[in-house]
Amino acid sequence: MAAQSTPQAARERAAELARVLAEHSRAYYIEAEPTVSDAEYDRLFRELEQLESDYPALATADSPTQRVGAPPVDDFPSVDHATPMLSLANCFDDEELAEFDRRAREGVGVDELAYCAEPKFDGTALNLRYEAGVLVRATTRGDGVTGEDITANARTIRNLPLRLTAENPPDFVEIRGEVVLPRSRFEELNERLEADGQKAFVNPRNAAAGSLRQLDSRITATRPLVFMGYGIGRVDGASLTDSLYGQLQQLADWGFIISPYIDRVTGLAGCTDYYQAMAERRAELDIEIDGCVFKVDDGPSRDELGFVARAPRWAIARKFPAEETTTTLNSVEFQVGRTGALTPVAKLEPVFVGGVTVSNASLHNMDEVARKDIRIGDRVVVRRAGDVIPEVKEVAERGQNTQAIELPEACPVCGSAVERIEGEAIARCTGGLVCAAQRREALKHFASRTALDIEGLGDRQIEAFVAEGLLHSPADIFALKAHRDALLEREGYGEKSVANLLGSIEAAKDTTLERFIFALGIREVGQTMARDLARHFGSLEALQHEAKAYHQRLADVWEQHPDNKAARDRAMAAEGLQAVPGVGARVAQCIADFFTEPRNVEVIEELIAAGVHWPTVDTETTPQPLSGQTVVLTGSLESLTREEAGERLEALGARVTSSVSKKTDYVVAGERAGSKRDKAEKLGVTVLDEAGLLALLEQHRAAVAD
Ligand code: NAD
Repeated sequence: MAAQSTPQAARERAAELARVLAEHSRAYYIEAEPTVSDAEYDRLFRELEQLESDYPALATADSPTQRVGAPPVDDFPSVDHATPMLSLANCFDDEELAEFDRRAREGVGVDELAYCAEPKFDGTALNLRYEAGVLVRATTRGDGVTGEDITANARTIRNLPLRLTAENPPDFVEIRGEVVLPRSRFEELNERLEADGQKAFVNPRNAAAGSLRQLDSRITATRPLVFMGYGIGRVDGASLTDSLYGQLQQLADWGFIISPYIDRVTGLAGCTDYYQAMAERRAELDIEIDGCVFKVDDGPSRDELGFVARAPRWAIARKFPAEETTTTLNSVEFQVGRTGALTPVAKLEPVFVGGVTVSNASLHNMDEVARKDIRIGDRVVVRRAGDVIPEVKEVAERGQNTQAIELPEACPVCGSAVERIEGEAIARCTGGLVCAAQRREALKHFASRTALDIEGLGDRQIEAFVAEGLLHSPADIFALKAHRDALLEREGYGEKSVANLLGSIEAAKDTTLERFIFALGIREVGQTMARDLARHFGSLEALQHEAKAYHQRLADVWEQHPDNKAARDRAMAAEGLQAVPGVGARVAQCIADFFTEPRNVEVIEELIAAGVHWPTVDTETTPQPLSGQTVVLTGSLESLTREEAGERLEALGARVTSSVSKKTDYVVAGERAGSKRDKAEKLGVTVLDEAGLLALLEQHRAAVAD
């Protein structure tokens, strides 16, 4: 906030601020289409307040600081409120809240005050008049004195009582509350609007305000609006409690929905505790709130305190920190996740948002960057809601010397190539086994029971060994024996456990081709696929050869048809890798990318040099009586585990998959089999019980033995 050195400069700045604030107010209240963020509006508002406090002559009656909302427009008839509808003073930190409490206590002349504590709903205010218990008029807040008559629209709000539930209703009563649009219905409404070719709302608040001020109440009726009661204006012919907390209970008795989080708290500490609790709850509430309101609870104290121009002195809104603000995008770095996914991360000019200073924010992926047309040097809107990772929501303003955001060709962590599968948003590092960012996960997978099955080398041990620098790549596992002394020194390890661990590492060298392929952790290659690849190619060399050929061919095809995906797909469909059952373009590309990354090839060579070996798979001669048949196992079996059953079925050539479809040949249903059996029965797939499975295995084993 720039201090204005001369009264003349202050006057000019104040006039400018008043003009800008009036424009923003109109866009916000009347059009329900704000042109700046609330944080920006509040900043300008405070600057004007400061100027007026420095130069009191500037605080003219028409200054935005002295007025509520925006004047009503001619589209609706104007109606005066029976008692003014004021705004609320607001504050953004504990200090300001303490200052409010101090002033209120001093004003009343007491040491402690009780407050009615309420959520501050983020919607639009509505004033309802009931005569003899019947709703006769509904008006917007307007400028606080005069509002717009929107009775027909308000009547369409389902939870708004058209008649009070009271035997003896007051002759006249004004009920105040907020019209809101629940978060859960907001997206749905926007989708509907967009499908109809209309403009979507930027947030639930504007959706509520815009929906309420429709000229055609049939449109309002289609909007899922909710009215939340928070206060009573003038009342005639009834004597109500002067406690605001008590009055809210009265609203509930008359049939209004009030917030379940209303409380009566004592002193500043009561307020700050309440604020904290609501701040934690905020993200999960379906009705958006933008802060808490604290109102002096008892009537005499409120009378003592009175009002300033636009707000009561006895209430304050403690606002939550703004969740959105703007800042400059200085640069972009790429982070590599544990699955190798590359995420563009915005490096921002540090900015305070959502209660913390943010200098990094997610850009999600390159498709999002393209869709939002974000460039380095732009002013961007940053959002941080609740505990969610801050994100760049959109461009606020194009910068002057901007630069495009480009996906790196090599992984910033390990230098391996970065692949991006056609049609997918996420780019990945192909260095699965060697990339430090992915190392831990790759190693856990490598040693796991269904891969190389190294007993004693579980997730916990791998995490510790990686952290201590004992393991970098899978080949290091086989070099652990050289670190016997270091292992012995570790807590929980003795001669015996180290010997056991080294023993199971030795034993794991003797494996099968399918386990080895699976252990490599190639994207999209699960156990079944690894087995199919092993069967199809018979040797690792053959698979590697085909993968490289595929890669080369793909590059050629891209050159021939750079703009025609269908033509590329057609050309590649005939390629070797895709001849393997279950391998389509996507999987083939993952396999090809993996085996053409030199670092992966290096790791494979190291493993083989360390002594990992497997018998060649005889692709021709092993009889496969169940070849081409698909089996799904479900429920638990008694005489063998599901895994063993799977292995035995696979040894006979069957494909064991997990989901039932029309193409499934058998579903083996053990004890407590559930939906898969039901589905099989519905689709007419043969269902076998355990005895049936054993008979099938026996029959084919006999056939193989013959
Ligand atoms: P306000 O919304 O900050 O507070 C007063 C209003 O709070 C009341 O009129 C009432 O409608 C509502 N409210 C919700 N829960 C309540 C409760 N439990 N008890 C009492 N009242 C409750 O004040 P305002 O004067 O309506 O608006 C000012 C704010 O609106 C600014 O601080 C700014 O954030 C925003 N604004 C933004 C723009 C923009 O261009 N982005 C323009 C104008 C105003």
